[in-house]
Amino acid sequence: MATDYDAPRATATSEMVEDSLEDLKERRAKNSQSSAIDVDEADLAEALEFPGADLSGEELTVRVLPMQANEFRCDSCFLVHHRSLLTDSRKGKLFCRDCAA
Ligand SMILES: [Zn+2]
Repeated sequence: MATDYDAPRATATSEMVEDSLEDLKERRAKNSQSSAIDVDEADLAEALEFPGADLSGEELTVRVLPMQANEFRCDSCFLVHHRSLLTDSRKGKLFCRDCAA
């Protein structure tokens, strides 16, 4: 069944090529001109996106550290607290001072 799809495309392409090499040359010339305009627009778009890229760079400077050895995650509020706030570890669960109260 794949040949059914390929055959029409091949004939259409060959017909276009045989049809007009001169037209193709003209089309390529026009396409190159229009594509040149498209490149300019793309460059403008990229230039407009640079401020956003700078913002993402700033976000990267804020490093998110993994939970440290002296910290724990509360099993109730799921916030990471310093171990000094750990008040209850019953039933294998850790609770911060606020949640244990
Ligand atoms: Zn908590």
